[in-house]
Amino acid sequence: MITEQSGPDVVVRLDGVRKEYGETTALDGVSLEIRAGEAVAVMGPSGCGKSTLLNMVAGLDRPTNGRVLVHGEDVGRLSERDLALYRRRRIGMVFQFFNLIDDLSALDNVALAAQLTGTPARQARRRARELFEELEITDRAHAYPAVLSGGERQRVAVARALMNRPALLLADEPTGALDSRSGEQVMDLLLDLNQIGQTLILVTHDERLARRCASRLIRFADGRVSGEQAVEALA
Ligand code: ADP
Ligand code: MG
Repeated sequence: MITEQSGPDVVVRLDGVRKEYGETTALDGVSLEIRAGEAVAVMGPSGCGKSTLLNMVAGLDRPTNGRVLVHGEDVGRLSERDLALYRRRRIGMVFQFFNLIDDLSALDNVALAAQLTGTPARQARRRARELFEELEITDRAHAYPAVLSGGERQRVAVARALMNRPALLLADEPTGALDSRSGEQVMDLLLDLNQIGQTLILVTHDERLARRCASRLIRFADGRVSGEQAVEALA
Protein backbone atom coordinates (compact mmCIF):
# COMPACT_ATOMS: atom_id res chain seq x y z
CA MET A 1 0.00 0.00 0.00
CA ILE A 2 1.37 3.39 -0.95
CA THR A 3 1.21 5.96 1.80
CA GLU A 4 0.93 9.44 0.35
CA GLN A 5 2.93 12.43 1.59
CA SER A 6 0.90 12.74 4.80
CA GLY A 7 2.72 12.24 8.08
CA PRO A 8 2.39 8.89 9.82
CA ASP A 9 -0.13 10.18 12.34
CA VAL A 10 -2.61 11.41 9.73
CA VAL A 11 -5.62 9.09 9.84
CA VAL A 12 -7.93 10.89 7.42
CA ARG A 13 -7.03 13.15 4.55
CA LEU A 14 -9.47 14.66 2.09
CA ASP A 15 -8.06 16.17 -1.10
CA GLY A 16 -10.43 18.42 -3.02
CA VAL A 17 -13.44 16.22 -2.38
CA ARG A 18 -16.49 17.05 -4.41
CA LYS A 19 -19.81 15.24 -4.22
CA GLU A 20 -22.74 15.90 -6.51
CA TYR A 21 -26.19 14.38 -6.24
CA GLY A 22 -27.80 15.26 -9.55
CA GLU A 23 -28.04 19.05 -9.56
CA THR A 24 -27.07 19.36 -5.89
CA THR A 25 -23.46 19.94 -4.90
CA ALA A 26 -23.22 18.47 -1.40
CA LEU A 27 -19.43 18.89 -1.08
CA ASP A 28 -17.67 21.56 -3.09
CA GLY A 29 -13.93 20.90 -2.86
CA VAL A 30 -13.18 19.87 0.72
CA SER A 31 -9.59 19.34 1.87
CA LEU A 32 -8.73 18.54 5.46
CA GLU A 33 -6.62 16.28 7.66
CA ILE A 34 -7.41 14.50 10.88
CA ARG A 35 -4.62 13.09 13.02
CA ALA A 36 -4.59 10.03 15.24
CA GLY A 37 -6.14 10.72 18.62
CA GLU A 38 -7.94 13.90 17.61
CA ALA A 39 -11.58 14.59 18.43
CA VAL A 40 -12.88 16.84 15.69
CA ALA A 41 -16.34 18.39 15.67
CA VAL A 42 -17.88 19.29 12.32
CA MET A 43 -20.44 22.04 12.63
CA GLY A 44 -22.67 23.99 10.29
CA PRO A 45 -26.26 24.59 9.21
CA SER A 46 -28.60 21.88 8.01
CA GLY A 47 -27.88 20.80 4.43
CA CYS A 48 -24.27 22.08 4.34
CA GLY A 49 -22.81 18.62 3.69
CA LYS A 50 -21.84 17.30 7.13
CA SER A 51 -23.46 13.89 6.77
CA THR A 52 -22.15 13.59 3.22
CA LEU A 53 -18.64 14.18 4.58
CA LEU A 54 -19.01 11.43 7.20
CA ASN A 55 -20.49 9.07 4.63
CA MET A 56 -17.47 9.60 2.36
CA VAL A 57 -15.06 8.84 5.20
CA ALA A 58 -17.17 5.83 6.22
CA GLY A 59 -17.09 4.44 2.69
CA LEU A 60 -20.88 4.56 2.44
CA ASP A 61 -20.60 6.65 -0.68
CA ARG A 62 -17.89 7.67 -3.16
CA PRO A 63 -16.73 11.16 -4.11
CA THR A 64 -17.57 12.55 -7.55
CA ASN A 65 -14.07 14.08 -7.61
CA GLY A 66 -11.12 14.24 -5.27
CA ARG A 67 -9.81 11.65 -2.85
CA VAL A 68 -10.60 10.34 0.60
CA LEU A 69 -7.51 8.74 2.12
CA VAL A 70 -7.73 6.77 5.35
CA HIS A 71 -4.33 5.59 6.59
CA GLY A 72 -3.10 6.50 3.11
CA GLU A 73 -5.59 4.21 1.38
CA ASP A 74 -7.90 5.71 -1.24
CA VAL A 75 -11.31 4.69 0.08
CA GLY A 76 -13.18 5.87 -3.02
CA ARG A 77 -11.26 3.37 -5.15
CA LEU A 78 -11.85 0.23 -3.11
CA SER A 79 -13.90 -2.52 -4.73
CA GLU A 80 -17.39 -3.07 -3.26
CA ARG A 81 -16.09 -6.11 -1.40
CA ASP A 82 -13.11 -4.29 0.10
CA LEU A 83 -15.32 -1.34 0.93
CA ALA A 84 -17.66 -3.60 2.91
CA LEU A 85 -14.67 -5.00 4.84
CA TYR A 86 -13.34 -1.49 5.40
CA ARG A 87 -16.68 -0.32 6.84
CA ARG A 88 -16.98 -3.30 9.16
CA ARG A 89 -13.41 -3.44 10.40
CA ARG A 90 -12.06 0.10 10.35
CA ILE A 91 -15.04 2.35 11.00
CA GLY A 92 -17.48 2.63 13.90
CA MET A 93 -20.53 4.73 13.24
CA VAL A 94 -23.14 6.26 15.54
CA PHE A 95 -26.32 7.89 14.19
CA GLN A 96 -28.88 10.33 15.52
CA PHE A 97 -31.64 7.71 15.67
CA PHE A 98 -29.48 4.84 16.97
CA ASN A 99 -30.33 2.37 14.15
CA LEU A 100 -30.57 -0.59 16.52
CA ILE A 101 -32.31 -3.79 15.43
CA ASP A 102 -35.63 -4.01 17.32
CA ASP A 103 -35.79 -7.82 17.34
CA LEU A 104 -32.42 -8.27 19.04
CA SER A 105 -31.51 -7.63 22.67
CA ALA A 106 -29.06 -4.83 23.40
CA LEU A 107 -26.27 -7.38 23.85
CA ASP A 108 -27.08 -9.18 20.60
CA ASN A 109 -27.19 -5.88 18.70
CA VAL A 110 -23.63 -5.26 19.83
CA ALA A 111 -22.37 -8.83 19.38
CA LEU A 112 -23.75 -8.90 15.82
CA ALA A 113 -21.22 -6.28 14.72
CA ALA A 114 -18.39 -8.72 15.46
CA GLN A 115 -20.23 -11.77 14.10
CA LEU A 116 -20.53 -9.94 10.77
CA THR A 117 -16.73 -9.86 10.59
CA GLY A 118 -16.51 -13.59 11.23
CA THR A 119 -16.01 -13.62 15.00
CA PRO A 120 -17.66 -16.73 16.54
CA ALA A 121 -20.86 -15.94 18.48
CA ARG A 122 -19.49 -16.87 21.93
CA GLN A 123 -16.42 -14.71 21.51
CA ALA A 124 -18.53 -11.84 20.16
CA ARG A 125 -20.87 -12.00 23.15
CA ARG A 126 -17.91 -12.05 25.55
CA ARG A 127 -16.48 -8.90 23.98
CA ALA A 128 -19.95 -7.30 23.98
CA ARG A 129 -20.30 -8.00 27.73
CA GLU A 130 -16.92 -6.35 28.38
CA LEU A 131 -18.07 -3.27 26.51
CA PHE A 132 -21.35 -3.17 28.45
CA GLU A 133 -19.30 -3.12 31.64
CA GLU A 134 -17.02 -0.36 30.40
CA LEU A 135 -19.99 1.71 29.27
CA GLU A 136 -21.90 0.96 32.49
CA ILE A 137 -24.96 -0.49 30.81
CA THR A 138 -24.57 -4.11 31.96
CA ASP A 139 -27.97 -4.08 33.63
CA ARG A 140 -29.59 -3.36 30.23
CA ALA A 141 -27.82 -6.13 28.29
CA HIS A 142 -30.90 -8.32 27.88
CA ALA A 143 -33.38 -5.52 27.28
CA TYR A 144 -34.79 -4.87 23.82
CA PRO A 145 -34.35 -1.44 22.24
CA ALA A 146 -38.05 -0.58 22.68
CA VAL A 147 -37.75 -0.48 26.48
CA LEU A 148 -34.46 1.45 26.62
CA SER A 149 -34.32 5.21 27.13
CA GLY A 150 -32.81 7.32 24.34
CA GLY A 151 -29.57 7.73 26.28
CA GLU A 152 -29.33 3.98 26.88
CA ARG A 153 -29.99 3.27 23.21
CA GLN A 154 -27.21 5.60 22.20
CA ARG A 155 -24.78 4.01 24.64
CA VAL A 156 -25.65 0.61 23.16
CA ALA A 157 -25.07 2.09 19.69
CA VAL A 158 -21.67 3.40 20.84
CA ALA A 159 -20.81 -0.07 22.18
CA ARG A 160 -21.77 -1.56 18.82
CA ALA A 161 -19.59 0.99 17.01
CA LEU A 162 -16.61 0.05 19.21
CA MET A 163 -17.04 -3.70 18.84
CA ASN A 164 -14.39 -4.19 16.15
CA ARG A 165 -11.94 -1.68 17.68
CA PRO A 166 -12.28 0.78 14.78
CA ALA A 167 -9.47 3.12 13.84
CA LEU A 168 -12.11 5.83 13.49
CA LEU A 169 -15.33 6.52 15.33
CA LEU A 170 -17.81 8.65 13.37
CA ALA A 171 -20.83 10.14 15.11
CA ASP A 172 -23.54 11.97 13.15
CA GLU A 173 -25.58 14.18 15.51
CA PRO A 174 -25.41 11.52 18.25
CA THR A 175 -27.19 13.76 20.75
CA GLY A 176 -29.74 15.17 18.29
CA ALA A 177 -32.59 12.98 19.54
CA LEU A 178 -31.69 13.11 23.25
CA ASP A 179 -32.72 15.36 26.11
CA SER A 180 -29.94 17.62 27.34
CA ARG A 181 -28.88 15.42 30.27
CA SER A 182 -28.64 12.23 28.18
CA GLY A 183 -26.91 14.26 25.48
CA GLU A 184 -24.26 15.36 27.95
CA GLN A 185 -23.77 11.77 29.14
CA VAL A 186 -23.27 10.52 25.60
CA MET A 187 -20.87 13.38 24.88
CA ASP A 188 -18.92 12.59 28.07
CA LEU A 189 -18.71 8.98 26.95
CA LEU A 190 -17.24 10.09 23.61
CA LEU A 191 -14.82 12.33 25.48
CA ASP A 192 -13.71 9.43 27.69
CA LEU A 193 -13.16 7.28 24.62
CA ASN A 194 -11.09 10.00 22.99
CA GLN A 195 -9.03 10.38 26.14
CA ILE A 196 -8.00 6.74 25.88
CA GLY A 197 -6.92 7.33 22.30
CA GLN A 198 -9.97 6.85 20.09
CA THR A 199 -9.89 9.11 17.02
CA LEU A 200 -13.29 10.71 16.65
CA ILE A 201 -15.20 12.78 14.11
CA LEU A 202 -18.39 14.21 15.50
CA VAL A 203 -21.12 16.11 13.68
CA THR A 204 -23.23 18.27 15.93
CA HIS A 205 -25.35 21.39 15.96
CA ASP A 206 -24.60 22.01 19.59
CA GLU A 207 -21.55 24.22 20.05
CA ARG A 208 -21.51 23.78 23.82
CA LEU A 209 -21.44 19.97 23.53
CA ALA A 210 -18.88 20.20 20.73
CA ARG A 211 -16.56 22.21 22.95
CA ARG A 212 -17.02 19.72 25.76
CA CYS A 213 -15.75 16.88 23.63
CA ALA A 214 -13.70 18.12 20.68
CA SER A 215 -10.14 19.42 20.42
CA ARG A 216 -10.86 21.12 17.10
CA LEU A 217 -13.95 22.59 15.44
CA ILE A 218 -14.31 22.55 11.67
CA ARG A 219 -17.08 24.81 10.38
CA PHE A 220 -18.90 24.03 7.17
CA ALA A 221 -21.04 26.21 4.94
CA ASP A 222 -22.45 25.33 1.52
CA GLY A 223 -20.32 22.22 1.11
CA ARG A 224 -17.05 23.90 2.02
CA VAL A 225 -14.86 24.35 5.06
CA SER A 226 -15.56 27.91 6.19
CA GLY A 227 -13.39 27.99 9.30
CA GLU A 228 -11.37 26.03 11.82
CA GLN A 229 -10.73 26.58 15.47
CA ALA A 230 -8.76 24.81 18.18
CA VAL A 231 -10.66 24.21 21.42
CA GLU A 232 -8.72 24.89 24.56
CA ALA A 233 -8.48 21.86 26.80
CA LEU A 234 -10.60 22.05 29.93
CA ALA A 235 -8.49 22.93 32.94
P1 ADP B 1 -26.15 18.03 6.55
O1 ADP B 1 -25.81 16.70 7.14
O2 ADP B 1 -25.13 19.08 6.80
O3 ADP B 1 -27.51 18.49 6.99
P2 ADP B 1 -26.17 16.58 4.04
O4 ADP B 1 -24.79 16.12 3.86
O5 ADP B 1 -27.17 15.59 4.51
O6 ADP B 1 -26.21 17.89 4.96
O7 ADP B 1 -26.73 17.14 2.65
C1 ADP B 1 -26.04 18.09 1.86
C2 ADP B 1 -26.84 18.33 0.58
O8 ADP B 1 -26.83 17.17 -0.23
C3 ADP B 1 -28.31 18.66 0.84
O9 ADP B 1 -28.73 19.58 -0.12
C4 ADP B 1 -28.99 17.32 0.67
O10 ADP B 1 -30.32 17.50 0.28
C5 ADP B 1 -28.15 16.69 -0.44
N1 ADP B 1 -28.10 15.22 -0.33
C6 ADP B 1 -27.52 14.52 0.66
N2 ADP B 1 -27.61 13.19 0.43
C7 ADP B 1 -28.29 13.06 -0.74
C8 ADP B 1 -28.72 11.92 -1.52
N3 ADP B 1 -28.44 10.68 -1.15
N4 ADP B 1 -29.38 12.19 -2.67
C9 ADP B 1 -29.64 13.46 -3.05
N5 ADP B 1 -29.26 14.55 -2.39
C10 ADP B 1 -28.60 14.37 -1.23
MG1 MG C 1 -26.79 15.49 8.49
